[in-house]
Amino acid sequence: MAELRNCAECGRLFAYQGRNLCSKCLKKEEDQYNIVRRYVRDNPGASVFEVADATGIEEEKILQFLRDGRLQSKGFTEIMECERCGRRISSGRLCDSCLGQINNEIRDAISGSTSRAPRENSGSGRNDKMHILNSKNQDRDK
Ligand SMILES: [Zn+2]
Ligand SMILES: [Zn+2]
Repeated sequence: MAELRNCAECGRLFAYQGRNLCSKCLKKEEDQYNIVRRYVRDNPGASVFEVADATGIEEEKILQFLRDGRLQSKGFTEIMECERCGRRISSGRLCDSCLGQINNEIRDAISGSTSRAPRENSGSGRNDKMHILNSKNQDRDK
């Protein structure tokens, strides 16, 4: 069952689908995004303020596109802050180094839990009939 919410933009009740905008406002946002994207493509050096001015679309909206990682422009360099270390970045939520660190942490967490794979159970007595599959699925650390 779809959850009903009020659209953050127009207040209309709509079926929530991950965004707090109704389909109408979502469509409008999509149009705005296309306008901004086109303008940025044609004016790669324009700042957010210039883009907002030229397109008539709110700066906040443009920043949101940046935050979502949908929009990138040379003119928008260092307008956002990394949510982790505060470094200035031009798009998305995290700087490249934090992104890399987080990826490493995730990889460590995954391999950390799988490296607890059972060792050879020798000496437990009755493995004369059991064939131990050795290191078939084991992750080598290289
Ligand atoms: Zn709406
Ligand atoms: Zn960072």
